[in-house]
Amino acid sequence: MIVGELKPVEEIVAKVKGYSRILVVGCGGCVTVCQTGGAREAETMAHLLGMALRDLHVSLDWTCVARQCEFELLEELKPRLASFDAILSLACGVGVQAVAEFFPSSPVIPGLNTTFMGMPVRHGRFEERCQACGDCILDLTAGICPVARCSKSLLNGPCGGSQNGKCEISAEVECAWHLIYERLERLGRLDNLERLVLPKNWAKSRDGGPRRMVREGLVPDGEE
Ligand code: SF4
Ligand code: SF4
Repeated sequence: MIVGELKPVEEIVAKVKGYSRILVVGCGGCVTVCQTGGAREAETMAHLLGMALRDLHVSLDWTCVARQCEFELLEELKPRLASFDAILSLACGVGVQAVAEFFPSSPVIPGLNTTFMGMPVRHGRFEERCQACGDCILDLTAGICPVARCSKSLLNGPCGGSQNGKCEISAEVECAWHLIYERLERLGRLDNLERLVLPKNWAKSRDGGPRRMVREGLVPDGEE
C-alpha cells in the first residue's frame, strides 16, 4: 500500500487561502487503511478548515470516492464541481494527479505528503517495504528487500557496519542483511549468499524516467 501523512493543518490553510468554495475529497484506497485520507479524515479536515477560515467566509464540504487514482471512479465528482472553486485531495500523489488530469479546469491541492510503499507492521505503525526498482530479487534475499530496507540499498550485504542485528545508521533500525541471513538460514538457503548479485539495470527503476506498464489483454482492440 501507499503510505501518506496528512500535512500540518497550518500548511493546508496557507495553500487553500484565496479560494472561497473548497471540496475536500478523501480516497477509499490505501490512505483509508492508514487512516490519513479516507472519509473520516476528509470530514474532519473540512471541519478544521471551516474553523480556521471562518473569518474569510469560506464554504467547505467533503466527500470520498472509492479510489482517486482511477478516472471512472472520479465521474461521481463531476456534478458537484460547479459549486466549488478548488479541490483539496487527501489521496496519495497518484490520486492528486489523476484528479488534476480528469478535471483540467479545477485547482487541486494536495493534503497529504506521500511517503512510501509499505505495510502496517503493527496497528498504527507502517514501514517501507518496496522501492519499485522494476527488477525484483526477493527470491534471492529470502523475501526481504535490500533495496528498500538496507540503508545503503546493498545488493550484496551486509556492509561492515552491522552490529547485533542493527544497522549502523541507528540502533532503532534493523539491518536488512542480518534479517536476510537469518531467514535464509531458517530456509536452509544460505548458499544464496554465495551468489553475487550483479548490478541491477536501474533503467527499470526511476533512473529510466517515468515508467509505464501495458497489460496487453486489458487494452481494448485498436488502442496502443
Ligand atoms: S527488489 Fe525491487 S521490486 Fe523487489 S521489493 Fe525490492 S524494490 Fe521492490
Ligand atoms: S548495517 Fe545492514 S542495513 Fe545498515 S547499511 Fe549496512 S548492510 Fe545495510
